[in-house]
Amino acid sequence: MEDKIQQIAEWIVNAKRVVVFVGAGLSTESGIPDFRSPGGLWDKYDPEDFYFQNFISRETAREKYWQMATEMYASMRDAQPNAGHFAIAELERLGKLDCLITQNIDGLHFKAGNSADKVLELHGTAMHVACLSCGKRHDRDSVQARIAQGEKAPRCEDCGGLLKPATISFGQSMPEQETAEASMRSETCDLFIVIGSSLVVHPAAYMPVIAKRGGAKLVIINRDETPCDTMADMIVKGQAGPTMAAILEKVKDRQ
Ligand code: NAD
Repeated sequence: MEDKIQQIAEWIVNAKRVVVFVGAGLSTESGIPDFRSPGGLWDKYDPEDFYFQNFISRETAREKYWQMATEMYASMRDAQPNAGHFAIAELERLGKLDCLITQNIDGLHFKAGNSADKVLELHGTAMHVACLSCGKRHDRDSVQARIAQGEKAPRCEDCGGLLKPATISFGQSMPEQETAEASMRSETCDLFIVIGSSLVVHPAAYMPVIAKRGGAKLVIINRDETPCDTMADMIVKGQAGPTMAAILEKVKDRQ
């Protein structure tokens, strides 16, 4: 393991463009469950209840969605970044982060100190709510306050449109600009590091493939196997936080 940490640190130091790509596994050590691990959200909820088509077509589905989203938000709002988030923020401060592509919606990268111009939130953010008709964004806490008062599926106070957390649900269009930018950064980087993602949610999971095709080295740090393991230059099967903290120490030693 020590050798792997050392090698990854060397690759980071020598790389011109490092792209870090993360999933829900980065935030489990902050107390936010992922989807697919035992005890994760798919043990508790039915994925179908998250389909966008259901949300827009039925009031009962919207009420169910908001009930689940409210429970999930409770674990995110007060969560704190862990050693993995801090290590990625430190890579930015060291000038070693071309960009961070995140599938996470928990806002922890910003709490850890990453700047907005380095972070591409591919699946949006749970920290805001968006009106699906007029596009107006609302602060999440203000909408949650309405739900606490008894509203079940809140609507936009300006236009009456459906309000939904500003996240991308299954079947909902990906944000065009972020997706295009993430593809471009993946294609042009020379080191692509995956942390805490099962790499089964597409199109996000194409990014490591794009990076590899573009000639980058691929590192995967994840507790379980992923479909991209066979193309990786290095696999670390371990906890994201301690692994990233150890890599960061070596990077700092080498700089
Ligand atoms: P996933 O649940 O499919 O996979 C998580 C992966 O992380 C698993 O392979 C697991 O082995 C690994 N893992 C869990 N804890 C780990 C740890 N401490 N260290 C290393 N590896 C660990 O998650 P995904 O790949 O991100 O894709 C699913 C979707 O989940 C994403 O679209 C994302 O938007 C959404 N999601 C986000 C959050 C969040 O924002 N924190 C939480 C739940 C789900």
